[in-house]
Order: sequence, then structure tokens, then C-alpha cells
Amino acid sequence: MGRVYNFSAGPAMLPEEVLQQAAEDMMDYRGSGQSVMEMSHRSAEFKTIIETAEQDLRDLLDIPDNYKVLFMQGGGNQQFAAVPLNLMKNGVADYILTGQWSKKAAKEAEKYGKVNIIASSADKTFSYIPDCSDLPVSEDADYVYICENNTIYGTKYKTLPNTKGKELVSDVSSCFLSEKHDVTKYGVLWGGVQKNVGPAGCAIVIIREDLIREDVMPFTPIIMNYKITADNNSLYNTPPCYTIYICGLVFQWLKKMGGLDEMKRRNEEKAAILYDFLDNSKMFHGTVEPECRSLMNVPFVTGDKDLDAKFVKEAAANGLINLKGHRTVGGMRASIYNAMPKAGVEALVAFMKKFEEENS
Ligand SMILES: *Cc1c(COP(=O)(O)O)cnc(C)c1O
Repeated sequence: MGRVYNFSAGPAMLPEEVLQQAAEDMMDYRGSGQSVMEMSHRSAEFKTIIETAEQDLRDLLDIPDNYKVLFMQGGGNQQFAAVPLNLMKNGVADYILTGQWSKKAAKEAEKYGKVNIIASSADKTFSYIPDCSDLPVSEDADYVYICENNTIYGTKYKTLPNTKGKELVSDVSSCFLSEKHDVTKYGVLWGGVQKNVGPAGCAIVIIREDLIREDVMPFTPIIMNYKITADNNSLYNTPPCYTIYICGLVFQWLKKMGGLDEMKRRNEEKAAILYDFLDNSKMFHGTVEPECRSLMNVPFVTGDKDLDAKFVKEAAANGLINLKGHRTVGGMRASIYNAMPKAGVEALVAFMKKFEEENS
């Protein structure tokens, strides 16, 4: 079998051009006589790699100068703790629950302060995003926290919550760089990179400078401390060098593809192919309220567990892998991140059509 179409929620597909570049650089990174994996994180070569990666990310997202970019080891779950440790000043934060990842983030924050759940879509298995235009935001909240794209349930905020002047902190792991984020609307946005940006092992935190504080909770581990990370340009400790290098290649690929507006256009085009099919199929159905649909993660079901299992198995045999839904939802889920080509989505829909004909 050649390369498959991998619909995994993460780690996920990377652009083939990026993998080819990494292969070319593997034994001898641009005349240095070594692989990036072997390189000192204090070397001139790596300094260029991380600085170029940061600049390319700044260009892609138009990150204003008063925001810092931090490359931090660990992924999403580490940021669930890092956010309250670094940002709770009053010891209070408001969380909006739209799925597993915001629930876990809230639970972690409860260890460090008071967490108020100000909205939730748990009543309908997180199949929608609640109306966040007029929420009971706590007077003393240090921030309002959301998970912007819900990887497991396939929903996405189409408008950001009205935080009534409080700082917005957003987990953008599964929609990072799928379209342009207006960075100025956030106090912090962060993403684990293994969904849409690179290999596992790193989270990128984009934080407004005035939120970076010295007086964080005294027991905050150094490697989770935003100020120490920022003051040391993400090089206090050995960072996940190879992951950062691949992220940098992905940023260059995104620029070459035409930037984030072009990625958004492509992602909308890909998602429409799949959603249009789901809306017209007699066998397959989407599970999310149409106006809340994610462009990145598309859950669907047949309504028959055995048929779902048969579909996942036969799809894999046809080079369409990792279509099984998350264990808490069941059914199927197709994650169609930036690196999934349109041809991959078309192949999936063609297979679904064939499966529907053969099994009804
Ligand atoms: C995958 C994911 C996480 C968890 O990331 P880990 O790196 O596995 O800890 C958090 N938030 C979102 C939105 C995710 O998709």
C-alpha cells in the first residue's frame, strides 16, 4: 500500500511536501553535516530555525508586536494546567463547556482556583455551541475560557463569546491555522500542534504581553511558566527541537499555498463536499447542528453500530484510515485538516456512496 488518506484527529496528516523536505534534510541539514534531531538547541542553525518559524507564524496570523509566541513542551493537557497557574490572579475563572477538552480544562483549573461554568452544551451531547452573547460572566473572573473547535464533537464557535471585558483564553488546537484568527480578540490563544500544524510534543501559546506575570502561583513548574519561557525565547530548557523545525516547514508550506485566507477557502470547499453528501444520504447522517459545524472534524453515524463498524473496517482496507469516531460518541469521524487534500475527501465520499449502495 502506498500512502493512505489518514482521517485521524491527531496526530494527523502532514503535507507531503513537508515530509519530502524533512527527508531531504534528514542526514545533512543544509550543509551542517547533521540532522536537526542531533543539533544543539543553542546552535546558530537551530536559532535560525526557531526564529524563522516564529516570524513565519507572525506573518501568517498578523500577530501584533505586543503578543509573545511561546513554543512549549507538552501538549494540550499541559496547557490546561499552565493557563490557570499563570493567569489566575483573583483565583477565579469562567469556563464554557462544549465538549471533552473544555471539561478537562475546567477540571484541571479547579485544582488551582474557583471555576464557574457559565454555559454548557452538555444537555445535547455537545452537538451545538451555546449562545454566548449575554453570559453571566463573573465580576472577578481572571479570564473566560473556551475550546474553539471541538475535535471530538465536531462543533466550532462561529462568533467568539461576549466576555464583557474579561480576557478570552481559547484552545485552538484543532482549528489552529485552518483560517485566520483575529489575535487581538484574545488574551491568549494556544494550540497543541499535533492536530493541524506538526508532530506531537509542542504547544504554541500566543499571549498578550501584559498578561505575562511574574507573580504566578508559587508552585508553578518552571517549564510551565509563561514569563520564564518568554524571557528565554522558548529556550530555557531544551525545547522539542525537531517538532519546532517541522512546524516551521508547515508554516512555509502555508505561506506558499497562499496563506490562511486561501487555506480557509480550501477547507470550506473540502468540508462542503462531505457535508453535502451527509445532508443527502439516506444512510449516513451528521451529528451536529448545521450552523455549528466544524470545518476540521466531521462526525457522522449510520444509526446502526454494526454497520458503523463494517464501514470503518472496509474503509481502512481501501486506504481511508482512522475513521472510527471517538469512544465517547461512537460512529465515525473524518478529520480533514489543512494537509488533507481535496482528493482525499472526494475518495471518502466516493467510498461512502459505494458502501451505501452495497448495504441498503
Ligand atoms: C487533542 C486536543 C487536546 C489534548 O491535547 P494533548 O496534546 O493530547 O494533551 C486539547 N484540546 C483540543 C481541542 C484537542 O483537540
